[in-house]
Amino acid sequence: MPEKKVRVRFAPSPTGPLHIGGVRTALYNYLFAKKQGGNFILRIEDTDSQRFVPGAEAYIIEAFQWLGIAFDEGVHKGGPYGPYRQSERQSIYQKQVNQLVENGRAYLAFDTPEELEAKRKEFPNFQYDASTRLQMKNSLSWSEKETKDWMDAGKQYVVRIKIEPDKIITVQDMIRGEIKVNSSIIDDKVLYKSADQLPTYHLANIVDDHLMEITHVIRGEEWLPSAPLHVILYNYLGWTDSMPQFAHLPLLLKPEGNGKLSKRDGDRLGFPVFPLQWNDPQSGENSSGYREKGYLPEAVINFLALLGWNPGDDREILSMEEMIALFTLEKCSKSGAKFDYKKGEWFNHQYIQLKSNEEIATMFLPDVRHRLEPASNVEYDKIVKIVGLVKERITFVQDLWEQTAFFFIAPTRYDEKAVKKRWKEDSPAQLTELAALLASLDDFTAHPTEEKVMNWIDSKGYSLGNIMNAFRLALVGESKGPHIFDITEIIGKKEVMKRINTAISVLPCTV
Ligand code: GLU
Repeated sequence: MPEKKVRVRFAPSPTGPLHIGGVRTALYNYLFAKKQGGNFILRIEDTDSQRFVPGAEAYIIEAFQWLGIAFDEGVHKGGPYGPYRQSERQSIYQKQVNQLVENGRAYLAFDTPEELEAKRKEFPNFQYDASTRLQMKNSLSWSEKETKDWMDAGKQYVVRIKIEPDKIITVQDMIRGEIKVNSSIIDDKVLYKSADQLPTYHLANIVDDHLMEITHVIRGEEWLPSAPLHVILYNYLGWTDSMPQFAHLPLLLKPEGNGKLSKRDGDRLGFPVFPLQWNDPQSGENSSGYREKGYLPEAVINFLALLGWNPGDDREILSMEEMIALFTLEKCSKSGAKFDYKKGEWFNHQYIQLKSNEEIATMFLPDVRHRLEPASNVEYDKIVKIVGLVKERITFVQDLWEQTAFFFIAPTRYDEKAVKKRWKEDSPAQLTELAALLASLDDFTAHPTEEKVMNWIDSKGYSLGNIMNAFRLALVGESKGPHIFDITEIIGKKEVMKRINTAISVLPCTV
């Protein structure tokens, strides 16, 4: 029999912004699909009306667009297995709900939320299952007439799966191997709610995986507890033979390694846990995103790929194509991966170095324009050169202004410590001489200028350090910055003269 075409899906519930762990799950699905020549599908699991958040679906789509993870089918793309939004598939699930009830695999339950709450208060370990269901209000404990009357009156109900107790359920997981669970620990989960006229996640997820011919379900570890229930449901629906293979990815852990990564860790340590900025429509709370923080999408992808997977050697910088070629679930780890956000910053630094100066300059340009007088003339070529000089020192494009502001704006103040240390008694006289020398130069490019200045210092027997330190102070306002003659070439003769003169007139003659 020919192998089935690989089909995997990412199936988020639009309950808020996409967590970075979800992005990693989607990425692994994508890498797996592309490696196997398969299809990757985006399905929106929005059957829980209580938890639906407007804008979340659009956010998810935008995040993947930014990250460069493309779907072959999905809610935003369409495809032969649509619709891809569960709320639009209402009529599809009805058949399976009815089938399960008719076959005695599920039953109707009439307990109100208040009654269930009261039960849980009375028995803290209460579980709706074989040991308790006959004490509850449902079609198994009631007579047919009672049930019929309730239904005829059009009252609300749910459908619950009927779990047979004390059966050993075996889950085969591609990462974790064989997992055996006693069915008695699983409760009679709600599969359908008449109030929404929609199935819950548990049923819709399986019906859709089946109908969409999903071959592999790669999901986060937090869904591992539902895997035995899913195995039971496939069995009840008669679909065991076409059940997808499961793989549950390891958890993302706090940077310190103790417990699951949460938004609070990001707030505490100052890193985003969402791909894009998110303004919560309900609370108004604003959460930062990798994009707005200045991360390059390639860096985020590379960083996430290695949190729970390795390429089999110690390579760290990998392009999407390389990751696709190397990706296997066998190389995913079982144990949680510490979310080392500093490593994420390291990746961003590396990816900035891999970009051309032109690309970085294009990203930096709006920031420069925004900070300068609207009328000022910003030369793109000049920015390209500046970027080339300081790229090595930055982690984010946003760091560029801090590193380069002096190229655009003459110092308005001088660092006090640097003045004390670097501005000597004879600095004004020496810089006056230097200014005269510079004024006489026709070629102001770095090399010839440097040569002329060096010869002059030599012939005068001045201290190279003293001159250069004072000169830098005059140009930059502090002791930082790239090679001094790269600075002079870029800011130009007129500006250099102006800055020397200002320093001489502003800084003290004797310190
Ligand atoms: N809708 C579930 C979620 O929000 C899907 C889990 C799964 O991949 O099956 O994550």
